[in-house]
Amino acid sequence: MNIYLNANENPYNTVDRNVINELLFSFDYNRYPDLEYKKLKNELSRISNRKVNNIIPTNGSDELIQLILLAYSKENDNILSHIPTFSEYEKISNYLGRNFIGVKPMKNLKVDKDIFIKKIKEYDPKVIFLCSPNNPTGEVLELEFIEEVLNVSNYMVIVDEAYIEFSTKTNINLLDKYENLIIMRTLSKAYGLASLRVGYGLTNEKNINFLNEYRMPYNISGISQLIATETLKIIDTKKYVKNILNEKERIIEELKNINIEYLNSESNFILIKIINNNEVLKALKENNIFVRTFNDEYLASYIRFNIGSCKENDKLLSVLKDVTENE
Ligand code: PMP
Repeated sequence: MNIYLNANENPYNTVDRNVINELLFSFDYNRYPDLEYKKLKNELSRISNRKVNNIIPTNGSDELIQLILLAYSKENDNILSHIPTFSEYEKISNYLGRNFIGVKPMKNLKVDKDIFIKKIKEYDPKVIFLCSPNNPTGEVLELEFIEEVLNVSNYMVIVDEAYIEFSTKTNINLLDKYENLIIMRTLSKAYGLASLRVGYGLTNEKNINFLNEYRMPYNISGISQLIATETLKIIDTKKYVKNILNEKERIIEELKNINIEYLNSESNFILIKIINNNEVLKALKENNIFVRTFNDEYLASYIRFNIGSCKENDKLLSVLKDVTENE
């Protein structure tokens, strides 16, 4: 059996198949989906505690990154983020012909905040992407730093909170204070709905209306809207999050026992440093365990894995134990 720990997904199925099967049986496949996503937005409004007209749902938050870049920047404009981080900010910037600038981290891979502020002043970027908790390091950016970025920036600041359910430090209250802030969220992680492709942006009504000018109509399928809406009505997310965080604690204790260096992560994944990377990757592959590797200059000796089910985590730990003991 394959064990997928490479995409930071929820290892559990969160959808009630009985409820969904019945709804799909009577679904009007011949009709276009709701253009306004009324039912979905009601649920997103409930889980985020923001008004319906402060929400824009998108085809995964990947699509929201593209939408933001299309709406708020043009070719050759500067786009700023910290690295290492979620690769799509750079990839989408590049294919849209924007000039992506990645601010190098400190030695411990944390964001170099002083340099970051300097770079904002130097490049005056049209869009700044901050990721908190950051994928793949797990770092949470302090509120004071995010506020400083918002104050220094003349344009849009995006805070990607894809993993916020695993942390306690949301920046959502800043939306009431700053007009140039968009918070990105997703149902792909804690909510366990990655396949539906539902992400959403939170910002003021003026920004929502502006983003909507660039959005394709019907960008989320009717089936995705339906399954997401019905699942949000009944899901006990806290239960999944608690389970994943408990498992994370257990894994960290084991990593300490076998002397594997790891970065503190306020998320559902852990970045570990492996000196003998090839040996470990070979052993993981032989056991059909999929993890995330990197080939950039900062992360060549690191592996990222997300917290799986108890059984999956046991398997991962036993493979890591075996290889490190044999070294
Ligand atoms: N932001 C971050 C930080 C991510 O790690 C991911 C997915 N790995 C996404 C956004 C995109 O998620 P989705 O498109 O599934 O909503």
